[in-house]
Amino acid sequence: MIEFKDVSVKYASGVGALNKINLTINDGDFAFVVGSSGAGKSTMIKLVLKEIEATSGTVIVNGFNLKKLKRRKIPTLRRTIGVVFQDFRLIPTMTVYENVAFVLRVIDAPKKYIKSRVPYVIGLVGLSHKMKSYPNELSGGEQQRVALARALVNDPSLIIADEPTGNVDPALSYEIVGLLKGINECGTTILMVTHEHDIVRHFGGRIINLNAGNIVFDEVIGGVNEAEQH
Ligand code: ADP
Repeated sequence: MIEFKDVSVKYASGVGALNKINLTINDGDFAFVVGSSGAGKSTMIKLVLKEIEATSGTVIVNGFNLKKLKRRKIPTLRRTIGVVFQDFRLIPTMTVYENVAFVLRVIDAPKKYIKSRVPYVIGLVGLSHKMKSYPNELSGGEQQRVALARALVNDPSLIIADEPTGNVDPALSYEIVGLLKGINECGTTILMVTHEHDIVRHFGGRIINLNAGNIVFDEVIGGVNEAEQH
């Protein structure tokens, strides 16, 4: 769950990136965040991950009040969140399996668990046949699916997807968002930042529109079904 209460962020330069934002994203929600460049979308994500602090207001993420959260507890917060980036951020010298397993190795998960969990999540994103491939042997869409498996492997309650379809072929973009929707249906909260209006229109759901640091629209819209689309 994410809760913003009167949250403002003013950068040292004097730029007001968010202005008294109020927002609740409940457990199990799927929300798109849209808005033009400079609207405050990245600032919102950085706040949720506690990469930056709010200048004023309260941010609560998965039960943690971020203002009160001690620096040494930040990894505990981040373990409840999986993040997918536009540029995938896979490790080029590691296979698909290793890229995903790495997340669990870092937190000292038991070997036996890693051996069963990693192939399971790679299977969820449909890449069982590419387990031994390296990132440069995969398409953009496949690389993003690996990134999704990596975000999922630790069973986070929240996934933040920051322009996950930005470097993926348009047709495959729908697959990636479809996968996120499936993950959401299993109970994971998803916050997806996107520029792509077609995707938002196609899938529908909750749309949060930021403009110059303000929420100008926060509503649920219906999606377009396949038959109408094609
Ligand atoms: P978006 O992700 O929607 O493009 P951002 O959250 O990156 O928007 O930026 C919101 C506003 O804050 C913009 O005016 C941007 O120039 C400004 N900004 C972002 N990061 C910084 C920073 N580190 N220092 C100063 N200003 C920043």
